[in-house]
This record gives sequence, C-alpha cells and structure tokens, in this order.
Amino acid sequence: MRRLSILPVTLLAFWFVTEPLRAQTPQKPDRQVAVTLDDLPAGMADRMPAADITAMTTKLLGTLRDQKIPVVGFVNEKKLYKPGEVDERIKALQMWLDNGFELGNHTFSHMSLNQRELKDWEDDVVQGETVTRMLLVQHKMKLRYFRHPYLDTGRDLETRRKAEEFLTQRGYRIAPITLDGWDWAFAGIYEDAKKRNDTAMQQQIVKDYLAYHDAVFAYTEQQSAKLVGYEPKQILLLHASNLEADHIGELLEVLRKRGYRFITLQEALSDPVYSLPDTYVGEEGTGWIDHWAITQGKIPQGAPVFPQWVIDRSKELRLSTGQVSAETQY
Ligand SMILES: [Zn+2]
Repeated sequence: MRRLSILPVTLLAFWFVTEPLRAQTPQKPDRQVAVTLDDLPAGMADRMPAADITAMTTKLLGTLRDQKIPVVGFVNEKKLYKPGEVDERIKALQMWLDNGFELGNHTFSHMSLNQRELKDWEDDVVQGETVTRMLLVQHKMKLRYFRHPYLDTGRDLETRRKAEEFLTQRGYRIAPITLDGWDWAFAGIYEDAKKRNDTAMQQQIVKDYLAYHDAVFAYTEQQSAKLVGYEPKQILLLHASNLEADHIGELLEVLRKRGYRFITLQEALSDPVYSLPDTYVGEEGTGWIDHWAITQGKIPQGAPVFPQWVIDRSKELRLSTGQVSAETQY
C-alpha cells in the first residue's frame, strides 16, 4: 500500500523535472548529408611522395570506415603518373575500394570546362577513366559519378548542356554539391604548418576550419529552406588532404551536432531537389544552392565571410588562394 501511494507523487515530481527540460531542448531535425572527397589520390599529390599519400589515405579512410561514413572519392588520374611511384599511387586509390568506398571521375588533369574548349575537356574526361574503371571492375562496380573540376559547369548554356549530354551518354550521373567550406584553402596552409611542426598554427587552422564549416552549414540550411521550402539531402564537398586525414572526425562531429546523419551519394541524389530547373552559367563555378537561387533570379546574400588570414597566408606561401579562379582547387 505504501509503495502505491508514493508512486503518483514520484511520477508528478518526475514530470515537473523533465517537462521544462524537454521544452528547452527541441528535437534535432532529421538532416541528411552525403560526403564526397575530390582531387584523389591527394589535392597536393604533386608535392607529396607516394609514401605520404599512402599514410594520408590510410588515416583518412580509417576514420571514415570506423564511423561508417559512405563516401565517393573523385579522381584525377594524372596525379598517378610520377615516375617510379605509379604502382604505389594506384594502390592508394585501390585502398578506397578495398575499404568499401566508391570512386568517381574528376577528369584526368583537373581541367576546367570554363577555361578550355569542350572537345579538349571531353578528351580529358575520357582520359580520366582508365585506371579508375579498371579498379572499379575488379570490385564489380561501375564508373557512374562525375564531378566538375572547380565546379565549372560551362560559361554558356550551350556548352553546359552539350557537356551534360556527353556525360550522360558515357553513363555518368553528375555529382552536384550543396555544402562547401573551402576546406582546400585551409588544407594548403595546414600542410605547411604541419611540415614546420608549427602546432599553434595547426590548432588555429583547425579551429577556423571547423567554425567556418559550421557557419556555412547554418547558412546553407537557411538558404535551402528559403529557396526550395525544405532542407534537401545535402552533398558535402571536401578534398583528400592531410587536414582531412587528421581532422575529418571533428568535422563529422560538427555535422552530427547539427542533426545530420550520413547517407550515400545515391540516396542524396534521390532527392527531387536535384531535378530543379538549373540554368546557371558563369565564369566561376559554384554550388548548386547558388545555381537554383540564380535560376530563380535571386542573388544569394549573407554568406559567411571566409577568414581573411587564411587567404593572406596562402598568398605568402604562394598557394592557390580564395580568389575564385582557375587557380583554386575545388
Ligand atoms: Zn577538384
């Protein structure tokens, strides 16, 4: 009897304690994102010995595998052809497939469709298929995704549509992107700081890299809701680098805190948002949220400001800078 009489009081007390708490912590939204990494085997493959590329890839894929993140990596095969290192560089690509990830084409030489003739660019797409397709076939997979270097999709609509038709005929699905925190710019100066064992600068870079990505995610969520009425399945653009190898786990945590779960590129592309009208053309490549905004006659505003010191430091080191031009790495 005593126990029964206490129970309602206990329940009531429990309700008083938990109810206001629940009101203060709203349910996390169910956000979804597909992760993609460009410029394989490494953004800075020209400056890295094959052993460093292998070490970087091992570390990067270890985190992604442990956390069960589905990823498509986009390859520039030109980076494989360093005399004496070809086999090891191909092995670094093979590691992606051995660990259950997928590979796509990012052209042979990272060629911009905006800077070159369509025919040359098409040849570069074809030349970029050789090794990647061979590796995929060994894993009973097909080469099915393409990512435009620099996100350059063509300077005029005729070129853009012809290139798209070419890609479709070769069996590709274009992989758009919606989340882009310019990790390649942080990665360039991180590489230098790491080489010099400058831990203070590495920490500063990582702090700003995470904060800027968080700001970009928030901005993109708002923009997409404003433009298309909901938050679509997003696609994140990152690059194969030591910065990502060392810190991608923290970036994934930033996404988790925002309520994201990780899906395949195929799942992301099932979102009808990727069939929206898109007539964007321009000198500068950009993400698909911008494409849809500009197609609707809207000028995207309020984007977070990229940390100026990272651009200044990149210039000091004569790396590609935040100037959105053919020199950037996208
Ligand atoms: Zn790229």
